[in-house]
Amino acid sequence: MTFQEELVELRRSLHREPEVGLDLPRTQEKVLAALDGLPLEITTGERLSSVTAVLRGSRPGPAVLLRADMDALPVHEKADVPYRSRVDGVMHACGHDLHTAMLAGAARLLSGRRADLAGDVVFMFQPGEEGQEGAKIMIEEGVLDAAGSTPVAAYGMHVFSTTIPRGLFLTRGGPVLAAADTLTVTVRGRGGHGSSPHRALDPIPAACEIVTALQTHVTRTFDVFDPVVVTVGSFHAGTTDNVIPDEARFETTIRTFSAESRDRARDGLVRVARGIGEAHGLTVECEFGIGYPVTVNDRTESDFAAEIVREHLGAGRFFPLPNPATGSEDFSYVLERVPGAFLIVGACPPDRDAATAPSNHSAEAEFDDAILSDGAGLFTELAVRRLALAAH
Ligand SMILES: [Zn+2]
Ligand SMILES: [Zn+2]
Repeated sequence: MTFQEELVELRRSLHREPEVGLDLPRTQEKVLAALDGLPLEITTGERLSSVTAVLRGSRPGPAVLLRADMDALPVHEKADVPYRSRVDGVMHACGHDLHTAMLAGAARLLSGRRADLAGDVVFMFQPGEEGQEGAKIMIEEGVLDAAGSTPVAAYGMHVFSTTIPRGLFLTRGGPVLAAADTLTVTVRGRGGHGSSPHRALDPIPAACEIVTALQTHVTRTFDVFDPVVVTVGSFHAGTTDNVIPDEARFETTIRTFSAESRDRARDGLVRVARGIGEAHGLTVECEFGIGYPVTVNDRTESDFAAEIVREHLGAGRFFPLPNPATGSEDFSYVLERVPGAFLIVGACPPDRDAATAPSNHSAEAEFDDAILSDGAGLFTELAVRRLALAAH
């Protein structure tokens, strides 16, 4: 079996048995089996089923961290593929099975190149990326100290089933993915008869006013080149036409691309909501949910990663990412502490049109595993070359 075939086999085995959240026992077992026999120092997580592996190079030097997330999503797979999920309602719809296989492949390749390594490589196999803050928990459990010193650089990748042409690697300096926070607003008044609003305190018109005011606030407050996206995705109030309810409630997702805008958005949106409620004599309760921070690439590291893609895979395989993507990532917690780069990889299958193919998280998403050995090779080159750079 070729290296590529082995990676495909591992990826498909992970795909058939997807697991959600922080506890991925079967996935962890498969990763440990894939790493078995390699000269690695392996530890597993306490609060989550993570795997941290350290490879010591032949010469002393700093450490570089490579990361893959391993969790799936509560999605029922509709894609008609031979390696379809065997678990009802669970699917690797975000392609983390590919990330895991690529990193296991890199561990194998780098184990064979210890003589080239001036320093150590930390392999971070992470559960719970899809909302459970697995990266943050691994940091709390010491992944950044696994080699004995904080890594000088960290790299991660994410496959896309759509938009990006197959086999293309993209990244950019600065923000690469959004911060995703939530705001839940409850407007409280006093219910009554629909025919006599003057005897009640109607929360609905004020709540509607807040929804539109939030959009106005965003367009009048933030630089269009440091955008803020606010979407009210749910709005609930009342039961029938002639009853004024006691309260109205809505939920908002807030995407930002800089720490400054993120802080200002939180303060401003809450102020607008409260102010409008108060103007109408209502009380407004704002519950702000902190999500993942902005994923920010170090410019030197993203330039370096781009150079390695061009040299290792070919000039045509790299494309500069023009704008950040509006998704979010908990690798951002690693990049808050370690300079590094996060790359986006086009993995749309050849029989689909990248412009229209179903996106990540869709029940019909498909990812082409032909890119696995390229991904593993790129992780490997990034580690070898970055350690060589540090030695100079
Ligand atoms: Zn996802
Ligand atoms: Zn993902």
